[in-house]
Parts: sequence; C-alpha cells; structure tokens
Amino acid sequence: MSIIRILPEAVANKIAAGEVVERPASVVKELMENSLDAGAGRVEVAVEAGGKRRITITDDGCGMSHDDALLAFERHATSKIRTAEDLFEISTLGFRGEALPSIAAVSRLELETRHASENAGTRVEIAGGRLRDVKEIAWPQGTRIDAHDLFFNTPARRKFLKSESTELGHIATLVTHYALAHPEKSFRLVSLTSEILNVSPVATARERVYQVMGGQLLEQMVEVAPVERRMPAAFSAGPEEEAENAEPVLVRVFGFASRPEIQKLNRNQIYFFVNRRLVRDRLILHAITEAYRNILPSGMFPVALVFLEIPAAEVDVNVHPSKTEVRFRRSQFVHDLARDSVRQSLVAARPVAAFPMGKSQTSPAADMLEADVAERLSDEPPGMKGPEIPGRGPARPPQGGDDFRLSSPRPTPETGRLPLDGALSVYAPPAITVPAGIPLSAEAPLPAGTSELPADLVPLGQVQESFIVATNPEGLWIVDQHAAHERVLFERHVRQRREKMVEGQRLLMPIVVELKPSQQAVYQQIADELGANGFDVEPFGQRTIAVKSAPAEIRADDVERLLLEILDSVGEEASRLSLDDLRLKIAASVSCHAAIKINMRLEQSKMVWLLRALGDSQAPMTCPHGRPIVLRYGMKDLQKAFKRI
Ligand code: ADP
Ligand code: MG
Repeated sequence: MSIIRILPEAVANKIAAGEVVERPASVVKELMENSLDAGAGRVEVAVEAGGKRRITITDDGCGMSHDDALLAFERHATSKIRTAEDLFEISTLGFRGEALPSIAAVSRLELETRHASENAGTRVEIAGGRLRDVKEIAWPQGTRIDAHDLFFNTPARRKFLKSESTELGHIATLVTHYALAHPEKSFRLVSLTSEILNVSPVATARERVYQVMGGQLLEQMVEVAPVERRMPAAFSAGPEEEAENAEPVLVRVFGFASRPEIQKLNRNQIYFFVNRRLVRDRLILHAITEAYRNILPSGMFPVALVFLEIPAAEVDVNVHPSKTEVRFRRSQFVHDLARDSVRQSLVAARPVAAFPMGKSQTSPAADMLEADVAERLSDEPPGMKGPEIPGRGPARPPQGGDDFRLSSPRPTPETGRLPLDGALSVYAPPAITVPAGIPLSAEAPLPAGTSELPADLVPLGQVQESFIVATNPEGLWIVDQHAAHERVLFERHVRQRREKMVEGQRLLMPIVVELKPSQQAVYQQIADELGANGFDVEPFGQRTIAVKSAPAEIRADDVERLLLEILDSVGEEASRLSLDDLRLKIAASVSCHAAIKINMRLEQSKMVWLLRALGDSQAPMTCPHGRPIVLRYGMKDLQKAFKRI
C-alpha cells in the first residue's frame, strides 16, 4: 500500500505561506511589490495593531480583470513570467506567483480591483484560502487588498509575532525603503493613530532621502555619485556567449554613505538595492565595510544606502522564496564596483570638511584634523600606523603670542598647581538649563540653538583614561568621556523615540528576568513605552519576563541591569510621571548604559569623533543626570596662574 500522497492545494499553500509570510511586514512587502509591478504611481499602506489585525494596501496600478482577480489566488499563477528562460531575466519584483495564495491561506482577505479594459470592478473575498464571495463592484482603476487577522488559522505562527510596535517598526522600515528606491512615486503609511510616512513624487534620490530621513541624516551622508561601468568581457562566462551577447553590459551604482563620524555598532543600517529591490547581500555588505576600512574603527559600521542597477540577466533573484537574496553572475566585479564607488565618494567629499568648524574654518586645528582623516582615508593597510602621539599637532602660539606651552611645565611645583577651585571653572553658559530637559521634551522639536562647545577642540590625550584633555585657542578643556558620550546618545535616543525609530536588537537568547512585585507593577504600566524604546519583552510566568530584544547599542550582559534600573528609577512615580518625563528617564538610562565608560583607552580618532558629536548636541555641557561634562581652563586663567599677567 502506498503511503505517500500529494498534499491538497490548501496544505501546499499553507506550507508556502510559511516561507513567504513570516510576519505582517512580509505581507506588506509582497503586496507593495505587486503594486509597484502593476505600475502604480501611488501606494498607500494602512495597518492596525502592527499589521496583526489588518493590513490594507491601495494602489493606482493597472488593476486586474475579473478573471485575473480569481486566477491570482491560484498557486503559481503569475502574469510576470511565462517560461523557464524568463527566470534568467526577471525585471519585475515578483515572479513566483506565490504571494497572493500564501497570504490568502493565512488571513481573511478582500481584493477589490478594476482593470482599465473593464467597466466593472471585481471584489473577491477569501478566508483561510477558501473562496467566500465574488461580485461585481464599482471601483476606480487600481487595486486594494485588505488582509485581516493574519495567522488566525495558524495559532502557532501567531504566537511568534512580536509586540505591535515591533511589527509596526518592521513595516515602517520596509515601506521607507521602498519609498527610497522609488522617488518618482508617492507612498503613504498610516496606522490607526498616526501617519508614519507620506511622500509625494520627487525628481531625485537625494530629495527622497530628505523627505524620508530628514535633513539631519542627509547632512551626515556623502552622496555616492552615480558611477557607470562596463563589465569587462574577461568576466563573462564564456567567449561564445559574449560574442552572441554583443550589447555592452553596463552596471550603475549610486547612493549615500555616512561620514566617518557616524558610527554604528552593527550593520543594520546598510541598505542595498539591486534594481530597486531591497536585498540582504553578504558580498555587498563586505564591499561597503571594505570601503570604510581605516575610516571607521574596526567593529563600527556606517549608514549606507546603495543602489545598484544591473541588467536583469546578470543577477539571479530566484534564490529564496522571500526574494531578499540575490546571486550575481560576476560577483567580484559587482563587489569591487560597490566598494570603489563608496570609497571614492568618501575621499572626494573630504568628510571632515563637514565637521562644524565654527568660524575658524582655516585654523591650524582644522587643518590638522583634516590631514588626520585624509591620512586615514589614504589606502594604507590597516594597523600600519603607530599609536597616535597626543598633541602631535603643530604647536600654536596662543592668542597673545605668549610662549606658554603645556609640554614645558615650569619648575615651580609648590605654586604651580592649578588653582582648581577658582580658575578651573565648570563651563556652563547661562543659556543652557538642564537637567530639567526642557529643550529635550519628547514631543517638542529640539531647538536649533547652536552648540556652545567650540568646534575646533583638538584632543591631546586622556587623564587616567577617563577625561579627555583638549585645547583650542581659548585655552584648555577637560571633558568627561562617559558623560559626553552619554549626552550624545541621550539626544539621539530622544530623537529616535520621537520619530518612533528606536532600534531594537534581537538577543541571541532571550534573557529571563525575575521582578520584585514593585518592579512587576511598574513594568505593567510602562510595558508599551519600553516596547517603543527597543525592548521586546514578554511575560514569562508569574513575575518573570523574557527580554527578546533590547536597544541596539546595549550589550547583552547589561540588558538585565538596565531594565531593572529603569523599573527602579521610575519606581512609584510611574502613574504620576508624564509620558514625556518617562521617555526622558528611559533615554537617560539607556544612554548611560550604552556610553563609553571611564577607565577606557580611546583612540585619537574616537576622541575627535566624540568631541565633534558632543559639539553637535543641543546641550553639550551637562549630562542627562545634571552633572557637568566639560571644564574649561581659559587662556587668561593659565596666564594668571603662571603670573604672566
Ligand atoms: P507574482 O507577483 O509573483 O506574480 P502574486 O501572487 O504576488 O505573484 O500575484 C499574482 C498575480 O496577480 C500577479 O502576477 C499580477 O498579475 C496580479 N496582481 C497582484 N497584485 C496586483 C496589483 N496590486 N495590481 C495588479 N495586478 C496584481
Ligand atoms: Mg507578487
């Protein structure tokens, strides 16, 4: 007796759905791809409960005829390829004919559509893969798909879904990136409570980056100018093939790459598009990391958006059902082209010129910094340079032409001590009133006030690997490295929270944390806010929680301490605390845990970066807990102390 049987279509669709539909964002991805393939100029995505309850996608594309609207839900039904040969030259985002049947198998779905060639539109209703209803409707040209209750019939899958905010985050990232890849189209993403993205057509990728990411990010990025290169024949698979395929094969790269002062702890912000398809590709990740070699410290990563346009025949997208991986026919060529384009743009942009140099644009300090980065940009092999010599910059005479030098202490030990209590003042300009955090209210925009920390500070070294000593023509500055980094991270976190873009990073293993009853009570009150701050936490038995993700910059072994600290610091105040104050408290704790510690040696480049980043912050003088960050010993004070005036 035979025991093997062919699975019914409904089961096969559910199996396919397992690969294609992992989470709400995958539904959004497939449906958006369909809309773009249908030539839509406008794509609108609306979600409820992070897409778990409902995802609606409306487009003004070509629409479907009555017959196609039904056929579309058959497995392997596609209008995009016909023969196996077509697989080798795919110019559409979809081609497998799996998405609609897969989504329909695990949700309750309604399709409304009309093709230009028909007068009436069609409405199809399907639940769990079963056709429920088909009727004629009045409908403008285009398509709307409404998928409710994802995984309603596969509870095991449903359990794997994350919090609503996490799922919404994935959707937002995805829509954002399709929007970046298609500047000539309009995109809108709304949840029940807010409009997350709304962009109208623009002419250039640059304008789209501005629309989507804002001016601040754009300022931190260097434009990778379009580079077009012909694939050399030598790379081709075989001579005969090249002869018959006489068309020159042109490959084009363009995009945006962050300046060296932007340093991320992971690769999550490197985005790569092949023929406008967002893909994860190790080869290109490697190419981009290579482009930053000697520019970023090892273990640090840039933000990059790289677009590659390559003839469809040169790339195989049929690698994985979710179509997020690709294979290049001539991978080495693509790798080197991506690496060289990014690197050349970084070199050409002389990234340091964008550092805020204040008014002393041409000061020797600026020149020195520029030389420093330029040197790191030059193609020297890594690790060839000796340790940085503190203060190796040109010794500048201070303003009054005085001959004072830090390197030649005067032999008067008893009187030579810095009168710390007097001259060495906590440098706190009156304009800045922290820690009340007024300028950092989580909802109000950060005021554009320029930083009070001079932009021309040159770090000389560290005291006890804890405090950075720096100079500029104004005098001597001492910066608490931990507090400085804390301030930088704090402002970034507040900003990201405001923009609902806090990154959570999945932990390799969930961390199980036991809570005291008081902590448990606080946790219940602020669980949603924690979710919006990059934590993905789930109840795990009585008074125990499992932390599955944490803010991206927090080390796994610090997650538990951080979480408990937040719960304790919020304490009994939880119900009285305004949402803004709660957000500031969380941001302060996260940044404290993520910041560079004291007793930590810093490379010269890191100190330069930190001082710049601090200078760029809104309140560079006081840490989020209210302690001073910067001390200044003015030139006058030095001269007085040495009895020169
Ligand atoms: P694929 O995209 O791989 O072809 P799908 O299951 O995603 O497979 O879609 C099946 C077919 O349904 C598509 O080939 C296309 O003809 C049609 N279709 C799907 N979505 C749309 C849409 N938004 N507008 C017009 N046609 C669509
Ligand atoms: Mg599709």
